[in-house]
Amino acid sequence: MSKPLPVQVGDATIFPQVHLLHTRNREGATDEMGSQLARALDHIGQGLCIFDGKGRITAHNRLLPELLNLPERSLVGRMLLELNRMAASAAGMSARTADLRAKAALADQLALVRSRRGGETEHLFPNGRVLRALHRPMGDGSWVMTVEDVSERKRAETLAAHLARYDALTGLPNRAQFIEALSLAIDQVRESGRRIALASFDLDHLGKVNDAHGVEAGDAVLAGIAARARADGRVGELVARVGGDEFCVLKTMEAEEELEEFVPRLLRTITTPIMVGGKRVSASARMGIAIYPNDASDGSRLMANAELALARAREEAAGAVRMYDPDYDEVARHRRELVRDMIEGLQRGEFHVAYQQQSSILDGEVIGHEALLRWRHPIRGAIGPDEFIPVAEQSGFIGQLGLWVLDTACREAMEVDLPGRLAVNLSPFQLDDVDLADNIARILRTTGFSPSRLELEVTETAVVSNKARALRTLGALQDLGIGIALDDFGTGYSSIETLRALRWDKLKLDRSLLTEVEDCTQGRAIMRAVISLGQALGTTVLAEGVETEVQLRLLQEEGCDQVQGYLFGRPAPIQQVRPTADADLEELRGMVR
Ligand code: C2E
Ligand code: CA
Ligand code: CA
Repeated sequence: MSKPLPVQVGDATIFPQVHLLHTRNREGATDEMGSQLARALDHIGQGLCIFDGKGRITAHNRLLPELLNLPERSLVGRMLLELNRMAASAAGMSARTADLRAKAALADQLALVRSRRGGETEHLFPNGRVLRALHRPMGDGSWVMTVEDVSERKRAETLAAHLARYDALTGLPNRAQFIEALSLAIDQVRESGRRIALASFDLDHLGKVNDAHGVEAGDAVLAGIAARARADGRVGELVARVGGDEFCVLKTMEAEEELEEFVPRLLRTITTPIMVGGKRVSASARMGIAIYPNDASDGSRLMANAELALARAREEAAGAVRMYDPDYDEVARHRRELVRDMIEGLQRGEFHVAYQQQSSILDGEVIGHEALLRWRHPIRGAIGPDEFIPVAEQSGFIGQLGLWVLDTACREAMEVDLPGRLAVNLSPFQLDDVDLADNIARILRTTGFSPSRLELEVTETAVVSNKARALRTLGALQDLGIGIALDDFGTGYSSIETLRALRWDKLKLDRSLLTEVEDCTQGRAIMRAVISLGQALGTTVLAEGVETEVQLRLLQEEGCDQVQGYLFGRPAPIQQVRPTADADLEELRGMVR
């Protein structure tokens, strides 16, 4: 049976098999059906083309020549190779290139149509167009090809891929891309003895530029500096925007002396004013630098170290440049890790409160307890508050931690019915929090702990550093009925002024006073003076760190009111300080029996 000839219906050349298939049982409907199909095929949005077993076009729709930019309306009878060639020429390729391209494409296409399942080929043209062709064999050697213009989709894909690796505003590589480039650069210089300098800097006052001239101005400054940094860069250098106003530059060097040229040039690039909307805007920056292989053996460590050096430069004047220095920066790293450990540790229940009894000096009766924070680090074991409290204070975590101590201590004290007063330490940094009094009042409400039994211990520094506000907050706490004790008295300032600034409920003599008492007579004179000062002000005086009977006797002689120290009891968990109610009951029963 000979192959049916293509049928021309209207503008379209119709695929005869389809025509026959659909008209086989419907005599008389041929033309109607044929023209409907032809219209449908012209509107499917893809070029459609049928080839016979020899690669000759037997039918196609109207869109095909349009997609290929071909003037001919009918391509029937053309070979696939010819079609390829015509399409390449129409896209602006020279005859020779078009021929080469056509042959290469043909090889790919034929390989696909000879496979049973067919497949896709993609054709990129010099004018930027991308056509995707799908080849489907029909089993008898002939095949269908559909052609689709995917230029837009491709462009979107490429843009998306670009955006994932490049910063949209400046067009510079972003952090991810930069780290990759850095690792690559390190791989390249690893064996060669060359070095890599990594400079990290952030622009100062970008926020101010935004505020004064609008966000567009801020963006313009960023984009302007980025463009200039790229233009000023030398071979072997790469600039990236790794954060909001943070940039990194890597430089491959033969020797470290090259920094002498590199660093000032980079600073000039940053500080030269930029015209934004007719106004001159100038930026400044501080910079941190780390060097491979001296300071780190991999890219992310090198970046982290440059950023540590930058953190140190930020404490200096504009234009400051700091090289990574393990002596300083490792301390900073250690602190940061400690803060992170603390935050996680609090959630994981690694903290608890220990209680140390405070006693009356007359009869040794327990008059209260001081709550002292304890941390059991999963790796490092017990870490003392003297080590972690200052770090918590510097990082701002003390606010949360301090309230946790207060809440826990109040709750536990209620649970075991801890007798007397409860003393809790308050960091000077907590006094900066305007919500402190409210938060404390809330804790007292929720735990049901009476304000009159709570005593907050603050050191003199708390009152000296921000006097007006600290005194206001402490006054508000006293108004709630809470007692305020002056901790560590006898060290630091110990000014009369501090003593008069507030109606202190208690003076806690620092334990260093006690050691001095034993050492010299002058120490004893100071001790006596301090105790009588407290008495003159009508304030209870408590001596801390009492370890020996000798110290105790001495304090009794000088008229001290209360004592706290290892002689009476060490800080211990609540269960040890106050046996549970059940145990109490047992004890009671024993007494009755
Ligand atoms: P501090 O408030 O002066 O607490 C007294 C410290 O002296 C405690 O050390 C206690 O264990 C220790 N101590 C008590 N009796 C004796 C003794 O007889 N001899 C000796 N050598 N030492 C004694 P700790 O628990 O290591 O606390 C150290 C500091 O950490 C505290 O000094 C306090 O400033 C701070 N701290 C502890 N817990 C907290 C807290 O919850 N919040 C805040 N902000 N600071 C806290
Ligand atoms: Ca204390
Ligand atoms: Ca103290």
